[in-house]
Amino acid sequence: MGSHEDRTYVVTGAASGIGAATAAALAAAGARVIAADLGRHGGGAPAADDVERIALDVSAPDEWARIAEQLTAERTALDGLVNAAGITRRARLDDATADDFEQAFAVNATGPALGIQALAPLMRSGASIVNVGSAAGVMAHYGIAYGASKWAIRGITKTAAMELGPRGIRVNLVIPGFIATPMTASAPEPFRAANLEAAPLGRAGAPEEVAAVIAHLLSPDAAFVTGTEIAVDGGLTGHGGGLPIARSMGAAHRQD
Ligand code: NAD
Repeated sequence: MGSHEDRTYVVTGAASGIGAATAAALAAAGARVIAADLGRHGGGAPAADDVERIALDVSAPDEWARIAEQLTAERTALDGLVNAAGITRRARLDDATADDFEQAFAVNATGPALGIQALAPLMRSGASIVNVGSAAGVMAHYGIAYGASKWAIRGITKTAAMELGPRGIRVNLVIPGFIATPMTASAPEPFRAANLEAAPLGRAGAPEEVAAVIAHLLSPDAAFVTGTEIAVDGGLTGHGGGLPIARSMGAAHRQD
């Protein structure tokens, strides 16, 4: 990871999982980290000792406006934003409700867009925004509302990169596969087993492994990278369905 000395970042979803690991990694690399999460976490459970915790519901435009006002009042120039807050919705096509779609989109897609809108004006040239998508946003996914919201954040990322590029602000997406966090701990066991089976590396990722890629995208080491997507998924999406076929062929070959 490059140095993050003298850089200031806002990280959402910073009380848990990928957001917490990202806040900790950036703080360890010397950054000032403003760690945002829902108020029920007291503005963020311990991500690291040296992060500042604030309460924020990413789906609330007025809360983003309040944070932008505070940062402006204290003359904070931002070097980046990590949109890691997220919620899952596991209802399938037959059962998903309008509320499932509304809530998934509010947190996973509209929220990051509102954050970019509110905080980009505080960013200087060289700043970097990283959104957190999902493997569920590059293929069909059993939880229809969650998957659709993760497809949406890809479009938001690319549009923001186009709009903010002339100001020297980069915007990229990381695409986690199956990562061991509280979100996946609550998933049914068959979901975990099927994900590990479908990933060439055959294991769950650690939130720190996603945080390391996010930190790279935030850093000047990635200065010419914008509008793009990096999967951190143990190869889950890279084989595009080829893995079960190759396994079958391997078995057939051994029978020759
Ligand atoms: P997590 O549940 O451990 O953490 C998510 C955090 O977001 C929580 O602290 C939660 O309080 C916060 N949050 C939820 N709604 C919020 C809101 N309205 N405003 C502010 N904060 C809110 O989950 P995680 O696994 O660390 O997920 C982080 C991101 O990574 C999410 O966007 C998730 O969709 C994505 N993702 C995770 C995985 C995985 O396998 N864990 C895979 C793909 C994508």
